[in-house]
Amino acid sequence: MHDLFKQHLLSWQERGLLRQRKIISTPQSPHLVADGTALLSFASNDYLGLASEPEVIKAMQDALAQYGAGSGSSAMVSGHNTLIHELELSFAQYHNLPKALHFSTGYMANLGVLKALALEDTAFFSDALNHASLIDGLRLSKGSTLHIYPHLDVDNLEQALKSSRQSNKWIVTDGVFSMDGDIAPLDQLLNLAERYDAFIYVDDAHGFGVLGTSGRGILEHFSLNSPRLLYMATLGKAMGVFGALVAGDEVLIDWIMQQSRTYIFTTGTPATLAAGALKALSILEKDSSYNYQLKKLIAYLSSQLAHFTQYTNVSHSAIHPLIMGESHVVMRVMEKLLGEGIWVPAIRPPTVPPGSARLRISLCANHKLSDIDRLVDVLTKVL
Ligand SMILES: *Cc1c(COP(=O)(O)O)cnc(C)c1O
Repeated sequence: MHDLFKQHLLSWQERGLLRQRKIISTPQSPHLVADGTALLSFASNDYLGLASEPEVIKAMQDALAQYGAGSGSSAMVSGHNTLIHELELSFAQYHNLPKALHFSTGYMANLGVLKALALEDTAFFSDALNHASLIDGLRLSKGSTLHIYPHLDVDNLEQALKSSRQSNKWIVTDGVFSMDGDIAPLDQLLNLAERYDAFIYVDDAHGFGVLGTSGRGILEHFSLNSPRLLYMATLGKAMGVFGALVAGDEVLIDWIMQQSRTYIFTTGTPATLAAGALKALSILEKDSSYNYQLKKLIAYLSSQLAHFTQYTNVSHSAIHPLIMGESHVVMRVMEKLLGEGIWVPAIRPPTVPPGSARLRISLCANHKLSDIDRLVDVLTKVL
């Protein structure tokens, strides 16, 4: 049975594209146990170490006792939990944006939002390296026109905006690009949006908690606030928990809530997750030491990687890729690192363009400078 699928699996394997999951039996942390082996990990997007933060865990335990396990149904049907409501209000206030809406995940937020934005007479302008969930959201938004501009190519984008005849124009971009770690030129994009009467949907999954003087994210990094910006951040990365929020103009948020099928036709998020995210947000707001520590590690790692030819761009985010080319090459390097007790994930097509397979090093505020030294020593030996 299913010979066809078996053949496809085999061909996937022969091309070095087969994914394997490690079994994790500890919390996410730089030092964890994977497949029964203690490893130094650079694999997580838990950038501030909040996934294992005792205060966050305690808040979740308390909420579990108070609100129980599940939410019963869609928030539209069985109601909207008070903690999720509070999280929406706190998130909007934290970013100085008018209103926010909570989604189960960033993936679902992107699908739901982009589909809701696609009224008649809509054009989307999307960076070529945007995250898969944005790409899928745009695929759902049939009937609108789509221009994909080369990665970060503001001139190309400007030409496309100039020649667009649609009245509802949206520039769609990652804030920090998830496999490259580089930052969208949001100040320039906003400038174009103002000149050509367009709007911006920015997915700050990897910027929230990382960029900006206090870690608020890409808006703080560029000191921007505008009714033309619709901002999305996820709660499963730097916030250490799970979920996502979209924030911006009140009319837009109201429309998105009415129209997003990924908001309406899914069971509401358990209150426990909102309790964890609220605690993480309050830590980020009150205590700059997590973000400060992360920034120190980012600067140190990028200086230490500078002499590797595979480190093609100095990154100012928590994501630092070493570009290797072919999938089997990066797999071999990953295996050698694992042999030394270090886990850096190999990222291969179709997640990244063919020929650009890479190691993706990501940092956590709980890493020590000596962890980075150990990584760099082993990389020097292996590369
Ligand atoms: C991780 C990620 C998402 C998806 O968020 P989840 O909450 O994990 O579903 C969306 N966009 C970007 C850029 C991401 O890196």
